[in-house]
Amino acid sequence: MSKEINSNDLMSLCKRRGFIWPSFELYGGVAGMFDYGPLGSSMRNNILEVWRDIYKGREGFIEIDSETVNPREVFKASGHVDEFSDLITYCTKCGSAFRADHLVKEFFENPDVLSPKELDDAFVKFDIKCPECGGKLGPVEEFNLMFKTNIGPGSSRVGYLRPETAQGIFVNYLNLYRYNREKLPLGVIQTGRGYRNEIAPRQGMIRMREFNMMEVELFVDPEDKGWIRFPEIENELISLVPNTGNETVMMTVGEAVEKRIIANKVLAYFVYTTQQFLTRLGIDPERLRFRQHLCNEMAHYAKDCWDAEVLLSYGWIEITGIADRGAWDLSRHAEFSGTELTHFKKFDEPREMDVEKIKAKHKALGPRFKDKAKAIAEIMETKQSSDVKDGKLELNLDGEDIVLDGEFFEVVRVREKVSGERVVPHVIEPSHGLDRIFYSVLEHSFSRDEKEDYTTLRLMPEVAPIKVGIFPLMEKDGLDELAMDIYRKVHSPCLEAYYDGSGTIGKRYARMDEIGTPWCITVDYESLSGPDKGTVTIRNRDTSEQKRIQIDSVPEILKNLLSGKPFRDL
Ligand code: AMP
Repeated sequence: MSKEINSNDLMSLCKRRGFIWPSFELYGGVAGMFDYGPLGSSMRNNILEVWRDIYKGREGFIEIDSETVNPREVFKASGHVDEFSDLITYCTKCGSAFRADHLVKEFFENPDVLSPKELDDAFVKFDIKCPECGGKLGPVEEFNLMFKTNIGPGSSRVGYLRPETAQGIFVNYLNLYRYNREKLPLGVIQTGRGYRNEIAPRQGMIRMREFNMMEVELFVDPEDKGWIRFPEIENELISLVPNTGNETVMMTVGEAVEKRIIANKVLAYFVYTTQQFLTRLGIDPERLRFRQHLCNEMAHYAKDCWDAEVLLSYGWIEITGIADRGAWDLSRHAEFSGTELTHFKKFDEPREMDVEKIKAKHKALGPRFKDKAKAIAEIMETKQSSDVKDGKLELNLDGEDIVLDGEFFEVVRVREKVSGERVVPHVIEPSHGLDRIFYSVLEHSFSRDEKEDYTTLRLMPEVAPIKVGIFPLMEKDGLDELAMDIYRKVHSPCLEAYYDGSGTIGKRYARMDEIGTPWCITVDYESLSGPDKGTVTIRNRDTSEQKRIQIDSVPEILKNLLSGKPFRDL
């Protein structure tokens, strides 16, 4: 069996058997867009359930589902309007567009860090021309990857399709914080579509224009980057490529934190959780590594970032990014929305501290606001010094907006006993690309025996779209009815079964092996009469081993196998 796989073989299997179909093929297709067929949808849901089991089940995080079209303000604050672009060049002769860094990748180790000017110079130095027609390439410019739209008629409200699901969590921070009874840590997960208008989608499902994400945003106290479950995993091994060199080093999670290779325990815990998640799905641990971003590669928000990379037929590919985003997101949304997005951190004991307070200037307020002056002064004194913007304080009295300047208040420092302080939570984010993970699981499960012309997808049972094939040896003599009866008893959305009565048994096994079905059950004549009456055979995909089991115990046996019981112990 070979591990060398040709992505075209796998993609053609995916298409033929209903995992993945290129979208809009009827109209010639659109690059970077794919539809999930019946088997693909089931397998994708199974991956999502494993992700939920880890984050919602084990870690107790909460899940939300936010809008995919967002107003411009959201992405202005997040930095995407100004920063989320790739460098593009157009051919001056045929007009084709190219990602500028891709054209010089033979000459630079890290072409994606080059500036537009450096790329222009490289085109001249290495005599790079349009790959389509040989024409001269135009100047390199920035191309924002977000799809732009209008919300409502006309162009009064500009919106964008979200390029990541994360912002939906950040803009809901206050709702989530209240839901969590104003406590940290606060872990939130969200899955859904992300949209990026990639310049040159290629490599099948690796670079798509509309893709699925599974994102986790963990809000933590900035001074407390420990994690309660860290001791459970600190002695486990991970394969790291730190940004101080190009070497892969194996070390324990604890050692990586001690040696300050990974910035803190909570980030390290989620790097390891990602390893657990991916290997549980069937990613080969030998073809998985965690690479730290180079300083000049780090996204505008990240303080430290590790990519889970897997070795595919395309080379090493990032499938998950785990970033320490610091206070970036909440600080920016607080600044742009004018709303405080903080956590009130209670001290163990009240502390004497200098605090800034707003003090009303009653002498000025009285003559100006007359009988409203007292109420205004009371509201003013509930405000904080951070509410003063450009020397002005805004407040609302019975629905009336009132803006006050320094004539009416002063900021004073007083020594007070305080019970706590407001801090901006930091965010740790494991961001998983569902489609890339889906594809990687398929590649790592794919095994092909060229001599026998036989393909097996060795999918983990938990991930396999169909858990069991159910066959009558012949479609007659009541074998078919009994097989159909078993099928009806076991088939459910959580345990998909497939009834197949056509072709030789060998062909039916082969059809199931090719789509990764871990077990097949065959009803034969012994099932109907003789000493084995009331039994069927069950076959294990990976060993071809077969056992006879009681028909009545089929549902229980399948449940046990799915929860990890070894086939040999049946
Ligand atoms: P990022 O926010 O760029 O770190 O992306 C998070 C994850 O989304 C990556 O690790 C990828 O798995 C996935 N991803 C990003 N861009 C694409 C794309 N164009 N097509 C498919 N998956 C993507």
